Amino acid sequence: MPGVILEAVTKRFAGGAVAVDELSLEIADGEFMILVGSSGCGKTTALRMIAGLETPTSGTIQIGDQIVNEVSARDRDIAMVFQNYALYPHMTVARNLGYPLRQRRMPRSEVARRVSEVAEMLGLEELLKRRPGQLSGGQRQRVAMGRALVREPEVFLLDEPLSNLDAKLRVQTRTEISRLQRRLGTTTVYVTHDQVEALTLGDRVVVMRSGLLQQVGSPKQLYDTPENLFVAGFIGSPAMNFLSGTIEDNKLRTSLGDFPLTDRLRHELTQENTGRQVIVGVRPENFEDAALVSADNRPHGITFKSNIDVLESIGSDVFVYFTHGRESGVNSAELEELAADAGRGETGGGGDTIVARLDAASRIREGSEADLWVDGRALHVFDPASGRNLSLGNAEERTATSTAPAAPAAPAPEEAAPEEAAPDTSTRTDNIT
Ligand code: ATP
Repeated sequence: MPGVILEAVTKRFAGGAVAVDELSLEIADGEFMILVGSSGCGKTTALRMIAGLETPTSGTIQIGDQIVNEVSARDRDIAMVFQNYALYPHMTVARNLGYPLRQRRMPRSEVARRVSEVAEMLGLEELLKRRPGQLSGGQRQRVAMGRALVREPEVFLLDEPLSNLDAKLRVQTRTEISRLQRRLGTTTVYVTHDQVEALTLGDRVVVMRSGLLQQVGSPKQLYDTPENLFVAGFIGSPAMNFLSGTIEDNKLRTSLGDFPLTDRLRHELTQENTGRQVIVGVRPENFEDAALVSADNRPHGITFKSNIDVLESIGSDVFVYFTHGRESGVNSAELEELAADAGRGETGGGGDTIVARLDAASRIREGSEADLWVDGRALHVFDPASGRNLSLGNAEERTATSTAPAAPAAPAPEEAAPEEAAPDTSTRTDNIT
């Protein structure tokens, strides 16, 4: 299976919108790579350029050993599944699965062999004689995947393939996709706006913002060492809390209390930075009910009192929400964008409310004052102007990180005409056959 290499790929649409800006990325042979970012960040455009459905304005796309900029979608050995998968309503599942192979005039016996192999792989054997109208949403999605897989493509591209499924089915299908990808070892690029999906599925994850690559790394790297505010606020659920802080007297002053500077921060924030404003990031899981922190751990953090506004117990954990001091000054373009991103406004992300995830054994109660502890070793400190994570030290050797300002967004276009006649008026085509 070949890998995919993007070299400074830019897509500027007519009207000037830059959807993808100098994207350079090496996707290894057999790798499962996820592109994630909020709506309009350019992930679908990037995927469509790999597929050959959009032409890059500049830069090169290489699949295996070949630069494919001039190769049509049809001649790239790629299969793509979209969010709105299209099945032919008048064909049975078996005929839908075999369609791309019949198009290629493959011998009947080979079509039958591959269809039954894919049906077995996806648990569709019992459904082969049904038509799409007689299937559930999840089953239809599996058929759409099967129709892409049956071609045994060299690269598999998926664009939000699970977003039409309900929550339970989404988790189930996510696991299936993951298992299938490992079994087949096909180089896969998967687009999603859901960071949980991104972290659970991928070998590596690319976080994009406004057409620019923000960071690429394993899920753990993105979670542990986010290189900038955007990645820090985007990855993790509930999102990282952000507080304003000041560097003074060799200390990091926050409304929660004063933290000693780590060696790395001391090195990064030299004398002339004294009095310097920073943004401090604390993940909800780096708080704890002070009563549950061992004597050994306690000195690694600080304990503070706060009134608990809301408490949510989910059995395995307890989430508490509180406000602490005035968190004004925690403003940055990145945080505003994160807060505006649907569904994330209420989870940390720069608001005044702090969310902490505590052990289920906590006896803290809603509406009362509590002693909370925060782990000083886990703090992230960001430069408000550039968004750079100062607690990671020098970012020089880190790969392609950018916090450049956003390109103006253009309105979302209608989907480009599919390669083959749309078989179902309510959906768009799913496979490049
Ligand atoms: P979503 O999750 O909402 O699908 P996305 O990250 O996949 O978003 P893209 O669809 O790649 O984003 O779009 C990136 C930017 O390019 C957006 O601002 C979008 O409006 C713009 N864009 C996409 N296609 C076109 C087009 N054909 N003509 C003009 N602008 C476009």
